[in-house]
Amino acid sequence: MKKLPTFIVLILVLSISNSCFAFWIWSPKSKKWRNPKYSPLAAPQAQFKKAMERYEVSDFKTALVEFRKVLKHYADSKEAPEAQYYIGKCYEALGDPYQAFLEYQKVVDSYPYSERIGEIVELEYNIGDYFLNRERHKWLGIVMDELFEHPSIEIFGKVIANAPYSEPAQAAQYKLGLLYKGLARYEEAIKSFTELIEKYPESKWNAPAKYQLALCSARASLDSDYDQELTQQAKENFEEFLAENPDAEISEEAQKEFAELRNKEAEKYFNIAAFYHKQHDFSGAKVYYNYVLKNYPGSSWADKAKEELKKAEVKLEGIVELIRNNQKGKAKKKSKFPMKSSYDKFLNEVNNMDEKYYTNENCNGCGICEKICPVDNIKLVNEKPEWQHGCQMCTACLHYCPQIGIEWGEYTIGRERYQNYYIKVKEIMEQKET
Ligand code: SF4
Ligand code: SF4
Repeated sequence: MKKLPTFIVLILVLSISNSCFAFWIWSPKSKKWRNPKYSPLAAPQAQFKKAMERYEVSDFKTALVEFRKVLKHYADSKEAPEAQYYIGKCYEALGDPYQAFLEYQKVVDSYPYSERIGEIVELEYNIGDYFLNRERHKWLGIVMDELFEHPSIEIFGKVIANAPYSEPAQAAQYKLGLLYKGLARYEEAIKSFTELIEKYPESKWNAPAKYQLALCSARASLDSDYDQELTQQAKENFEEFLAENPDAEISEEAQKEFAELRNKEAEKYFNIAAFYHKQHDFSGAKVYYNYVLKNYPGSSWADKAKEELKKAEVKLEGIVELIRNNQKGKAKKKSKFPMKSSYDKFLNEVNNMDEKYYTNENCNGCGICEKICPVDNIKLVNEKPEWQHGCQMCTACLHYCPQIGIEWGEYTIGRERYQNYYIKVKEIMEQKET
């Protein structure tokens, strides 16, 4: 029994020393032990060939080891970029697309003159597309992609940076927009689609990008509390897309978004009407209720506008009746300010108050002031406004000049201009036409 352990130990030592001698060889040249398993062949061509032989018989794990030897021992050889490329291919074959992408990217970063760059950009795009369409992984009901940055964002970003004007880059830019949209990151989606439209005006992705841009602006506008800029942007994007693609089939999603957008706009005008109504400015309220009825007939605000319009008209009729019969109405509160005399003075002078208007060097002759004046009191002569002395002093020309090119005496120099946040220049012009 005592001799048995000694015997086993001897066997073990012999077997270990045998295997040692089988793998480790003393190199008199380098004066080091070396294991042929980890050593490269004597030339990069031979090493690469050996790796390729493994790759071609689908022994990808061994091929990986052999390709890595090319990179480690012959980094400057002409075989190195190819070895790096095939490392990516091995990872793809082994079912690790993200690692494959990282390896392909090393070819672009380390060997930018490789003939494979075009092919690699396509391979990377396909990997990005794979992650984009892959079913999202869930763990305990949590979508994992929402915890970590979606891999396609990085991958598509690299595709765009690697070959900015290539077909895969254009497609990647579009898909990146779609991805952001799917993640409800509308600002980034809008940026991505806008970049595509601006950078690639001839691209086949341009029209779909405009469509998606409109959808994203709509979604962003509807999600925000009251972002008029975005609502306007969304509307313009839709109109531009429809003008350029009159035969395009508009998806149900777009129709729904557009209807919601119009509803939101109708709400905006209804609220302006309600504001005037509350201030007992029934004629102002009437204008906006009618605007809602005329321009948003199918919206949920049209019915409310109709109802409120009736009430405003009744009030207005009452006032008209009082005026017609030269009767006095009940004023709620008597002002201490001499309203009547001030008002009379204003009425006498108002038409000529435009004598103090003039343009400064900012005026570029755009003609907006002429179009915006509600009483056509401005004529453009030699691309400069001339006031016709029928002014109502609404000050629209002063405040809506996009160049801050109009002054009134010295009072307005260096001072802010103010615009109604809810009303755009275009809307004032359109309202004037109705
Ligand atoms: S809107 Fe302003 S810039 Fe345009 S024409 Fe009138 S003053 Fe000139
Ligand atoms: S102040 Fe009003 S009414 Fe007078 S010119 Fe300017 S826009 Fe026209």
